[in-house]
Amino acid sequence: MRSTADAVIVGAGIMGCAIAYELAERGMTNILVLEKDAIGRGATADAAGGIRQQFSTETNIRLATHSVRIWETFEERFGRDIGLKQQGYLFLLTEPDQEPVFRRNLALQQTLGVPARWVTPAEIADLNPHVLLDDVIGGTFCPEDGWVDTSGATMGYAEAARWRGVEIAEETPVTGICIEAGRVMGVETAHGPVATPLVILCAGPYTRLVGEMAGVDLPVSPYRRMSFITEPFDRLPASLPMTIEFATGLYFHPESGGFLFGMGNPEEPSSFDKTVGEAWMLATVERLVSRAPVFEEANVRRGWAGFYEITPDDNPLLGWVGEPEGLAVAAGFSGHGFMQGPAIGACIAELVLEGAARTVDIAPFRPSRFREGALAQEHNVI
Ligand SMILES: Cc1cc2nc3c(=O)[nH]c(=O)nc-3n(C[C@H](O)[C@H](O)[C@H](O)COP(=O)(O)OP(=O)(O)OC[C@H]3O[C@@H](n4cnc5c(N)ncnc54)[C@H](O)[C@@H]3O)c2cc1C
Repeated sequence: MRSTADAVIVGAGIMGCAIAYELAERGMTNILVLEKDAIGRGATADAAGGIRQQFSTETNIRLATHSVRIWETFEERFGRDIGLKQQGYLFLLTEPDQEPVFRRNLALQQTLGVPARWVTPAEIADLNPHVLLDDVIGGTFCPEDGWVDTSGATMGYAEAARWRGVEIAEETPVTGICIEAGRVMGVETAHGPVATPLVILCAGPYTRLVGEMAGVDLPVSPYRRMSFITEPFDRLPASLPMTIEFATGLYFHPESGGFLFGMGNPEEPSSFDKTVGEAWMLATVERLVSRAPVFEEANVRRGWAGFYEITPDDNPLLGWVGEPEGLAVAAGFSGHGFMQGPAIGACIAELVLEGAARTVDIAPFRPSRFREGALAQEHNVI
């Protein structure tokens, strides 16, 4: 492993790999990515792979829109098939006060070029004939949304970064960050020290712990999220959209001949607990069957748990931490980070090399916003 680098990136999830690639593509190639486990095995591995543009803040919509263009051309750019399925995201709304909020978000999305639209219950029945609509007042649908294979995407970025000279050291935890006179000087690792003037924290749910090594408090908290997949199930077509019951966060989409589904638990405390709870699995299945009774005939093949990396306003911390100098962060994506990887990679590379992000203005997500009281709340969190 090299002992000096122009930049050290902590974490080889989608963010660490995309940022390394975008920096190398722009000419900074003496980069070391340090990963305590293996490439793409953190939150990125546990994601549902959903990509959507239906957000409530301009910054998130722009990040998502730029990223969708990259996902659409990923195979040409990186030579990797990422199993892109643009079958749409269909939000089902059941509470009257959701309608004005979603209509307002829709207007913003449309202004920014997103082809999302309002759908009536009759139109929802055309898009997904298998959901019960008795309590549904309407919804929104964007045909460009969908899902991709998270592992293929992360490996695509990692390989392209390595081709450009980036070193990715797996099974190499960062154990300390060295600071002198208010500046980053290097990191300590399980395999020895590395001297560097620039450290970029992309440690996903562990970012607060790594931030503490530099004496900074980065408000990123881990929350367990469980996902489940059915056995192969052909009672529903594999062409269905990602379908989301917004009030409960229940979602399902076709995956590997079966269906992937999950639901957020509002009572879940912050923790690093990765066990799959049977009670929550039963609650999720019950909700799924209530919305789409055909699932009564499906069998659950397996479940797994991963961590959402939640911040106080459900948006990430992007950019320079301030003190110490030379420390940047891209973390806290609050459950919607995978899809933004391409845009975040470009934005952080521009910030580092050119002084400001051009692809998307990420200033609203600056880490200092919490102490400034300038929160940027995202409404469309699933
Ligand atoms: C169940 C579930 C479903 C999700 N579904 C979606 C979805 O549909 N769409 C979407 O966009 N997002 C989704 N997400 C969120 C998404 O997974 C994350 O926002 C995204 O993957 C974050 O990427 P990352 O690179 O920041 O973090 P990670 O992938 O967690 O990468 C961080 C890496 O840092 C490493 N690390 C930590 N500490 C250290 C250390 N001290 N030294 C070295 N390495 C370290 C970790 O091992 C890890 O590999 C979902 C998340 C979960 C849990």
